[in-house]
Amino acid sequence: MITVKHLTKQYIDPDGSVFQVLKDVNCEIERGEVISIIGPSGTGKSTFLRALNLLDPPTSGEILWNGENILAKGYPLNKFRQKMGMVFQSFNLFEHLSILDNVTLGPMKLLGLSRSQAEEEAMTMLRKVGMGEKAASMPGDLSGGQKQRVAIARSLAMHPDAILFDEPTSALDPTMVGEVLSVMRQLASEGMTMLIVTHEMKFARNVSTRVFFMNEGIIYEDGTPEQIFEHPVHSATKAFVQRIHKLVFEVDGADFDMLDAKSQMGRFCIKYNVASKVEAANRIVDLMGQSVMSRLYPYTLRLTHSEQTEVTALDFMKENIQDSPLRMPQTDSTLLDKLREHCQEIVEEPTTRGFRVKFIL
Ligand code: ADP
Ligand code: MG
Repeated sequence: MITVKHLTKQYIDPDGSVFQVLKDVNCEIERGEVISIIGPSGTGKSTFLRALNLLDPPTSGEILWNGENILAKGYPLNKFRQKMGMVFQSFNLFEHLSILDNVTLGPMKLLGLSRSQAEEEAMTMLRKVGMGEKAASMPGDLSGGQKQRVAIARSLAMHPDAILFDEPTSALDPTMVGEVLSVMRQLASEGMTMLIVTHEMKFARNVSTRVFFMNEGIIYEDGTPEQIFEHPVHSATKAFVQRIHKLVFEVDGADFDMLDAKSQMGRFCIKYNVASKVEAANRIVDLMGQSVMSRLYPYTLRLTHSEQTEVTALDFMKENIQDSPLRMPQTDSTLLDKLREHCQEIVEEPTTRGFRVKFIL
């Protein structure tokens, strides 16, 4: 249904410098697919949606819609725009119009429906999203969740072939997220083609047919929800979906300020609600730092915590070695036992560039 090839978007800053938001976006979207777009903020997710429906036309690249290049000169853009609905974080309802009039406006103006036809149709769509009773209300009388359901009805009234959603639940009070997601889930089950930028990972996981992980202006990784959430290929994807937080230190020699590093690690553990791990982390840093690692400068010390798996780990990483620092001939034989007292598990593993000893705290 939609093929995107080498899409780019750049902004020119007032000082003349070029800011490349979309670097090279490529994808294919089939009719009936429900695609969640996830990724850190500022990576171009909104820009991608706005480029796709030409609210903010791309700088270069191709968008094929049922095989036709919509960026080609002379393509009937109005028709295309009607076929591509958009639901925004901020609802974008006309505050001075009733709910019913918000929904009938587009079909009357753009599809040429009579008022009575448009109203009949609008009522059908409003009932579909559970808002039939509010037809005569003004937007100001509605909750955020209700406004967003009206925005979805308004989009449906145009009979779109696809609907783009840009963080449709991000502006909502948490108690109202569910009602909007359930309307979206229903649309998905009816076969509506949907592209949804979202931070609702559970929804992305359970409702999408595919997930795009966007990062640094490209679709960094795409796959089924299972692939993206359970078996991501790239470490950036993994870090994002598991919400992994990191604290990294390059320990370059005996003069490295380990006291400062330890106090940062303490704050990190408190921030992520694992203050109980601070003591273990300190003991392991001392045991390792004063023995094997003192022969391996420079090395990388890393503390990570995954909010999803709730695993906190302390890593010692050294480039250009093939064996575990814990297995070197000069290693004190009691060291392993002492280390084991302070952690649940020790994982010794080669990495692409060297070797890592991981302590699961
Ligand atoms: P996301 O939705 O993934 O958070 P956006 O697509 O909103 O990211 O923005 C990506 C980057 O593009 C941001 O750094 C943002 O500041 C920049 N950007 C977005 N719109 C404009 C604009 N109209 N002019 C200049 N820069 C913009
Ligand atoms: Mg955005």
